[in-house]
Amino acid sequence: MPSIRLSEVTKKYGSTRAADGLNLEVQDKEYLCILGPTGAGKTTALRMVCGLTLPSSGRIFFDEQDVTGMEVERREAVMLSQVYSLFPHMDVQQNVLFGPSIKEWSEKDCNRLARSMLEMVHLSNRAQALPHELSGGMQQRTALARALASGSKVLLLDEPLRALDARLRIELRKELRSLAKSLELTCIHVTHDQDEALVMADRIAVLRRGKVMQVGTPKEVFENPNSPFVANFVGQSNFFTGKVVSKGEWTIVEDQRGVRVPARPCDMEIGEEVVMAVKVGNTRIKSDEGFLKGTVERMLYEGSNVHVDLVLCDYLRFSVKMPNRKIGEFEVGSPAYVSWNPREALVFPIPPEGLEEELKVD
Ligand code: ADP
Ligand code: MG
Repeated sequence: MPSIRLSEVTKKYGSTRAADGLNLEVQDKEYLCILGPTGAGKTTALRMVCGLTLPSSGRIFFDEQDVTGMEVERREAVMLSQVYSLFPHMDVQQNVLFGPSIKEWSEKDCNRLARSMLEMVHLSNRAQALPHELSGGMQQRTALARALASGSKVLLLDEPLRALDARLRIELRKELRSLAKSLELTCIHVTHDQDEALVMADRIAVLRRGKVMQVGTPKEVFENPNSPFVANFVGQSNFFTGKVVSKGEWTIVEDQRGVRVPARPCDMEIGEEVVMAVKVGNTRIKSDEGFLKGTVERMLYEGSNVHVDLVLCDYLRFSVKMPNRKIGEFEVGSPAYVSWNPREALVFPIPPEGLEEELKVD
């Protein structure tokens, strides 16, 4: 039912702009993830959609109806906040049925609703348990069941999996998404976890400093980032700054020391200052040949992969993920070469405030 649209939404707290001209559209029944570092304004954006925070300026629409000033209760949205805030003295069923919209319901209807909600979140056998008797995952499911029991068609999730341990977090990703899909909800899910956003979202909106940097499918955002920031925040990247010296099948970028690397064709002119970015996962390491030569500085065992940090040409820092079967080929101090498929290396104009500032995740 509801599509959601934010138009030039700004929220100021003193001199802080928690939202800075947000423009964003969420389709009906879409699962949209807002991905951004801590402090980017994710919670603020969600609270404004819910009606808990009033924008300083701009408009918010549900199905093209202006809801900017509408009270929370009258909106068709429910928010599951970062802390579950279950009532400690109420059991699971009472918590689920706490929503104001079901106050007037008959006991029979309430029981039926509670049963179906608890079934959905696999808690049917814990209806009489108190929150402290439940695991973190079960508490989270209870809070989710309560949110769903409200019947709202817009579900707003603020880092819903954050407090769970790694294994459960990964398990619940699938469940949460399929639940939202089967109930045909329009869902905005806020997270700082790129893996979570990549596996769960229909589309991802990357947020930074109160602004939407890029919106696209997980594949678009991962493979065709529109800025060095997105290239690094969604899947870490290696960077090389220099000037375009040749354009043809590949773009050739040369730095001040005359070191050259190949990248995808681009619109930049010869002589222009640019940044080349290639994903860590797309950078290869070899012992005998490559584009750049250097030394292994650090190796971190990660199970099926080994994360390798290198210093190249005595000054450039690059990282690669190497399959762990190659672990015997390198050690700290080993000479090594890196290369990549130039098609996977992107070229961006130099960010106006410099690369270091561009990549900051404050
Ligand atoms: P995120 O959820 O992405 O971590 P928030 O939306 O919580 O970010 O915060 C964005 C910015 O707005 C931060 O700088 C934060 O300190 C500020 N902020 C958020 N809420 C308030 C508030 N109620 N009063 C003052 N500043 C706030
Ligand atoms: Mg937050």
